[in-house]
Amino acid sequence: MTTADEADLRDGEVATDRPVSYDAAVQFIGTIRTPYTSRDMCPRQGALDGPDCRLELLEEWAPALKGITRFDYLDVLYWLHLSRRDLVLQSPRSDGSITGTFALRSPVRPNPIGISKVRLIRQEGSVLIVKGLDCLDKTPLIDIKPERCSFTPQAPHKDADDT
Ligand code: SAM
Repeated sequence: MTTADEADLRDGEVATDRPVSYDAAVQFIGTIRTPYTSRDMCPRQGALDGPDCRLELLEEWAPALKGITRFDYLDVLYWLHLSRRDLVLQSPRSDGSITGTFALRSPVRPNPIGISKVRLIRQEGSVLIVKGLDCLDKTPLIDIKPERCSFTPQAPHKDADDT
Protein backbone atom coordinates (compact mmCIF):
# COMPACT_ATOMS: atom_id res chain seq x y z
CA MET A 1 0.00 0.00 0.00
CA THR A 2 1.34 3.45 -0.83
CA THR A 3 1.44 6.35 1.59
CA ALA A 4 -1.19 8.05 -0.56
CA ASP A 5 -3.58 5.09 -0.09
CA GLU A 6 -3.07 5.12 3.66
CA ALA A 7 -3.84 8.81 3.73
CA ASP A 8 -7.14 8.06 1.93
CA LEU A 9 -8.42 5.82 4.73
CA ARG A 10 -11.20 7.17 6.94
CA ASP A 11 -11.26 6.62 10.71
CA GLY A 12 -11.81 2.93 11.42
CA GLU A 13 -11.30 1.76 7.84
CA VAL A 14 -8.99 -1.18 7.25
CA ALA A 15 -7.23 -2.18 4.04
CA THR A 16 -5.80 -5.63 3.46
CA ASP A 17 -2.04 -5.88 3.88
CA ARG A 18 -1.84 -8.70 1.31
CA PRO A 19 -0.83 -7.90 -2.26
CA VAL A 20 -3.89 -6.93 -4.29
CA SER A 21 -4.12 -8.06 -7.90
CA TYR A 22 -5.38 -5.42 -10.26
CA ASP A 23 -5.56 -7.88 -13.15
CA ALA A 24 -8.94 -8.85 -14.57
CA ALA A 25 -9.57 -11.61 -17.05
CA VAL A 26 -12.88 -10.01 -17.89
CA GLN A 27 -13.41 -8.94 -21.48
CA PHE A 28 -15.27 -5.70 -21.87
CA ILE A 29 -18.08 -5.84 -24.41
CA GLY A 30 -18.52 -2.11 -24.82
CA THR A 31 -18.79 1.23 -23.08
CA ILE A 32 -21.54 2.86 -21.04
CA ARG A 33 -22.33 6.49 -21.79
CA THR A 34 -24.10 8.40 -19.03
CA PRO A 35 -24.56 12.10 -18.20
CA TYR A 36 -22.47 11.58 -15.05
CA THR A 37 -18.96 12.99 -15.47
CA SER A 38 -17.98 12.99 -11.79
CA ARG A 39 -18.73 10.63 -8.92
CA ASP A 40 -20.56 13.42 -7.12
CA MET A 41 -23.04 13.55 -10.00
CA CYS A 42 -23.79 9.79 -9.88
CA PRO A 43 -26.78 8.59 -7.90
CA ARG A 44 -25.94 5.91 -5.32
CA GLN A 45 -28.33 3.61 -7.20
CA GLY A 46 -29.90 4.23 -10.59
CA ALA A 47 -33.59 5.10 -10.97
CA LEU A 48 -35.79 3.48 -13.60
CA ASP A 49 -37.13 6.95 -14.44
CA GLY A 50 -33.64 8.46 -14.56
CA PRO A 51 -31.92 9.93 -17.61
CA ASP A 52 -31.39 8.00 -20.83
CA CYS A 53 -28.02 6.25 -20.92
CA ARG A 54 -26.36 4.34 -23.76
CA LEU A 55 -24.90 0.84 -23.76
CA GLU A 56 -22.54 1.03 -26.74
CA LEU A 57 -21.48 -2.46 -27.72
CA LEU A 58 -18.34 -3.29 -29.66
CA GLU A 59 -19.38 -4.21 -33.20
CA GLU A 60 -18.32 -7.84 -32.74
CA TRP A 61 -20.84 -8.21 -29.90
CA ALA A 62 -23.74 -6.45 -31.65
CA PRO A 63 -25.21 -9.77 -32.97
CA ALA A 64 -25.46 -10.89 -29.33
CA LEU A 65 -28.33 -8.40 -28.92
CA LYS A 66 -30.62 -10.54 -31.12
CA GLY A 67 -33.88 -10.98 -29.20
CA ILE A 68 -33.12 -8.35 -26.57
CA THR A 69 -36.14 -6.18 -27.35
CA ARG A 70 -38.45 -8.91 -26.03
CA PHE A 71 -37.47 -7.67 -22.59
CA ASP A 72 -38.55 -4.48 -20.85
CA TYR A 73 -35.97 -4.84 -18.09
CA LEU A 74 -32.36 -5.97 -18.20
CA ASP A 75 -29.59 -6.59 -15.70
CA VAL A 76 -26.46 -4.70 -16.68
CA LEU A 77 -23.04 -5.53 -15.25
CA TYR A 78 -20.18 -3.06 -15.42
CA TRP A 79 -16.64 -2.60 -14.19
CA LEU A 80 -16.33 0.28 -11.73
CA HIS A 81 -12.89 1.00 -13.09
CA LEU A 82 -11.93 3.92 -10.85
CA SER A 83 -12.50 2.06 -7.57
CA ARG A 84 -9.80 1.11 -5.13
CA ARG A 85 -9.86 -2.65 -4.50
CA ASP A 86 -8.19 -3.25 -1.16
CA LEU A 87 -10.70 -2.21 1.53
CA VAL A 88 -11.94 -4.91 3.90
CA LEU A 89 -13.80 -2.54 6.23
CA GLN A 90 -15.34 0.70 5.02
CA SER A 91 -16.93 3.84 6.40
CA PRO A 92 -19.10 4.87 3.47
CA ARG A 93 -20.64 7.89 5.14
CA SER A 94 -17.48 8.98 7.02
CA ASP A 95 -19.60 9.02 10.18
CA GLY A 96 -17.55 6.55 12.16
CA SER A 97 -19.78 3.55 11.43
CA ILE A 98 -17.74 0.71 10.00
CA THR A 99 -19.14 -2.02 7.75
CA GLY A 100 -17.60 -4.99 5.95
CA THR A 101 -17.16 -4.63 2.21
CA PHE A 102 -19.45 -7.58 1.46
CA ALA A 103 -22.24 -6.04 3.51
CA LEU A 104 -22.22 -2.97 1.26
CA ARG A 105 -23.03 -2.12 -2.38
CA SER A 106 -20.09 0.28 -2.36
CA PRO A 107 -18.10 0.51 -5.63
CA VAL A 108 -14.99 -0.21 -3.52
CA ARG A 109 -14.54 -3.99 -3.56
CA PRO A 110 -11.92 -6.54 -4.61
CA ASN A 111 -13.60 -7.03 -7.97
CA PRO A 112 -15.47 -3.79 -8.61
CA ILE A 113 -18.47 -5.15 -10.48
CA GLY A 114 -21.60 -2.98 -10.49
CA ILE A 115 -25.06 -4.36 -11.23
CA SER A 116 -28.15 -2.37 -12.14
CA LYS A 117 -31.63 -3.31 -13.21
CA VAL A 118 -32.41 -1.03 -16.17
CA ARG A 119 -35.44 -0.29 -18.32
CA LEU A 120 -34.85 -0.88 -22.02
CA ILE A 121 -36.13 2.14 -23.95
CA ARG A 122 -35.04 1.17 -27.45
CA GLN A 123 -32.36 -0.44 -29.57
CA GLU A 124 -30.40 1.57 -32.14
CA GLY A 125 -28.27 -1.04 -33.91
CA SER A 126 -25.38 -1.89 -31.59
CA VAL A 127 -26.58 0.61 -28.97
CA LEU A 128 -29.21 0.12 -26.28
CA ILE A 129 -30.87 3.17 -24.75
CA VAL A 130 -31.70 2.40 -21.11
CA LYS A 131 -32.73 4.08 -17.87
CA GLY A 132 -31.57 3.05 -14.40
CA LEU A 133 -27.78 3.42 -14.36
CA ASP A 134 -25.63 5.01 -11.68
CA CYS A 135 -22.15 4.85 -13.22
CA LEU A 136 -19.71 7.36 -14.59
CA ASP A 137 -19.60 8.17 -18.28
CA LYS A 138 -17.28 5.73 -20.13
CA THR A 139 -17.55 2.97 -17.52
CA PRO A 140 -16.61 -0.35 -19.17
CA LEU A 141 -19.53 -2.69 -19.89
CA ILE A 142 -19.16 -6.35 -18.86
CA ASP A 143 -22.47 -8.06 -19.58
CA ILE A 144 -26.18 -7.67 -20.31
CA LYS A 145 -28.86 -10.21 -19.36
CA PRO A 146 -32.65 -10.29 -19.29
CA GLU A 147 -33.67 -9.21 -15.82
CA ARG A 148 -33.91 -12.27 -13.59
CA CYS A 149 -37.58 -11.96 -12.64
CA SER A 150 -38.79 -11.29 -16.19
CA PHE A 151 -36.74 -14.02 -17.85
CA THR A 152 -38.67 -17.05 -19.01
CA PRO A 153 -36.96 -19.23 -21.59
CA GLN A 154 -38.86 -19.02 -24.87
CA ALA A 155 -38.80 -20.94 -28.10
CA PRO A 156 -36.85 -18.93 -30.67
CA HIS A 157 -39.01 -16.85 -32.98
CA LYS A 158 -38.39 -14.27 -35.65
CA ASP A 159 -39.54 -10.69 -35.43
CA ALA A 160 -38.46 -7.36 -36.84
CA ASP A 161 -36.41 -6.49 -33.78
CA ASP A 162 -34.49 -9.72 -33.83
CA THR A 163 -31.74 -8.61 -36.19
N1 SAM B 1 -25.76 -0.21 -8.82
C1 SAM B 1 -24.46 -0.80 -8.66
C2 SAM B 1 -24.51 -1.93 -7.66
O1 SAM B 1 -25.34 -1.89 -6.74
O2 SAM B 1 -23.76 -2.90 -7.81
C3 SAM B 1 -23.40 0.22 -8.27
C4 SAM B 1 -23.70 0.94 -6.98
S1 SAM B 1 -22.35 2.00 -6.48
C5 SAM B 1 -22.93 2.49 -4.87
C6 SAM B 1 -22.64 3.44 -7.45
C7 SAM B 1 -21.59 4.51 -7.15
O3 SAM B 1 -20.34 4.09 -7.68
C8 SAM B 1 -21.86 5.84 -7.79
O4 SAM B 1 -22.70 6.62 -7.00
C9 SAM B 1 -20.45 6.43 -7.90
O5 SAM B 1 -20.11 7.07 -6.69
C10 SAM B 1 -19.57 5.21 -8.04
N2 SAM B 1 -19.11 4.99 -9.42
C11 SAM B 1 -19.84 5.08 -10.54
N3 SAM B 1 -19.13 4.75 -11.62
C12 SAM B 1 -17.90 4.44 -11.18
C13 SAM B 1 -16.70 4.01 -11.82
N4 SAM B 1 -16.64 3.82 -13.14
N5 SAM B 1 -15.61 3.76 -11.04
C14 SAM B 1 -15.67 3.93 -9.70
N6 SAM B 1 -16.78 4.35 -9.03
C15 SAM B 1 -17.88 4.59 -9.76
